[in-house]
Amino acid sequence: MLTDEEDRSIDDDMDENGFPSLQLVSEEEEEEEEEEETSVRNGNEDPSVGVSQGSFASNFYRSGTDWSCLLESNPQKSKRLKQADLFQVWGFKKATGTSSGSMVSSSPSKEKNKMQSVSLERFNDRMNSKVPSFGKRKNWGGDNRRRICPFYKKIPGTPFTIDAFRYGLVEGCSAYFLSHFHHDHYSGLSKGWSHGPIYCTPLTARLVKMSLLVNPLFICPLELETEHVIKGIKVTMLDANHCPGAALIHFRLEDGRCYLHTGDFRACRPMQLHPLLANHQINVLYLDTTYCNPKYRFPSKEDVLEFVVMMTKKSITKQPKTLIVVGAYSIGKESVYLAISKALGVKIYANSSRRRILLSFGWPELSAKLCSRGQETPLHILPMSSLRPETLEQYLLTYMHQYTAVLAFRPTGWTYSEVTGNQLNLIRPRLSGNITIYGVPYSEHSSFLELREFVQFLRPNKIIPTVNVGNAAHRDQMQSYFQEWLKEQ
Ligand SMILES: [Zn+2]
Repeated sequence: MLTDEEDRSIDDDMDENGFPSLQLVSEEEEEEEEEEETSVRNGNEDPSVGVSQGSFASNFYRSGTDWSCLLESNPQKSKRLKQADLFQVWGFKKATGTSSGSMVSSSPSKEKNKMQSVSLERFNDRMNSKVPSFGKRKNWGGDNRRRICPFYKKIPGTPFTIDAFRYGLVEGCSAYFLSHFHHDHYSGLSKGWSHGPIYCTPLTARLVKMSLLVNPLFICPLELETEHVIKGIKVTMLDANHCPGAALIHFRLEDGRCYLHTGDFRACRPMQLHPLLANHQINVLYLDTTYCNPKYRFPSKEDVLEFVVMMTKKSITKQPKTLIVVGAYSIGKESVYLAISKALGVKIYANSSRRRILLSFGWPELSAKLCSRGQETPLHILPMSSLRPETLEQYLLTYMHQYTAVLAFRPTGWTYSEVTGNQLNLIRPRLSGNITIYGVPYSEHSSFLELREFVQFLRPNKIIPTVNVGNAAHRDQMQSYFQEWLKEQ
């Protein structure tokens, strides 16, 4: 099952590099495309899974009313953390009485942080006056054909959603957060977007503007590591250790509740030193569970980079006329070709569409290494779909005066094999004449053990998985892992 944006097949609306193609589509056509689009990772994103019987939401309510099961082996004996009305917590229903049934477990912090106030009200006024079509899809939600935004994309007690652009206007949402610029997260965002302000990191904001042509009036960049106040809620974007611009999003509500949404991330030790995560209880953790299965024990990124550099040097020593190819989908995995570039002291060739994206990162080290002519360097970035012997043989012909062999790398977590585990020296390449292709388990998502360590460090009151949630057995399995992890130590 494909559950990784890096391994999805390229859609019709994307170019060969996995970037949005810029052909203009009428809004009607676009809506139809959104209807047809199948969900890649969250197989439950179907109207039937909104709040109906047997849905993920209803199953979750059923199993999740007693949160003490996450902390205690015998909930009968422990003090129960009961939620009086989960529909209220998840924002489907307004609060009617006191906050006695709320999910508060920590009192509001009095500490004063450096704050950057974002006046959303002023922003909305400005936008409403300039964009008359704001909120024009009045029938959204009333039409059964429309997808319903799943509850786990809404932050309870706030008017916020995360990565929820494919549902049009989400009722009650006045701030749409985008965790990072991968298609399965921004899907639904387009030139015609008019449903509300989009909050993301400055790098993601540049990509949204440049690649999707979204009206800049709707794009609100939030600097990393700065506390912003949006609708009275403190929001901080933290580096997610995923692709460029990817953020973990930390919310602190006025009543003290804290939520962490990981978007897509690879958990790492430095995250445990962050004051926001180290010093404050997280009430609900929205977790990237892409590899939440013990079979995924891939090596660290550093080890994979070392392996790639070592194999490259070996090949060049054996056959100096070797063309090095690194496969890539959209953004992410830049470190792989940067490591080779540094080790060999060579430039990086990418076609113009990819160069444009890479230059927009504003990373001087990467920008300085890019070149526009394939003849200038033995290091080329090609779309992942080109990493086949036949295609690479053809590609080599173009450079037959310079090179006689190709060494190619496919860096993705999905090349991980249970047989090799984290032993890189067991990886065997695919050989075909003078073409050698290595699949290397370079993952920008957490391994199972990294997820466990992160959860055991954070010890949240509740965990909501955001990936692979379309199947009840998977959900139950993940919840039992979470419970085990929180019982340990
Ligand atoms: Zn991603």
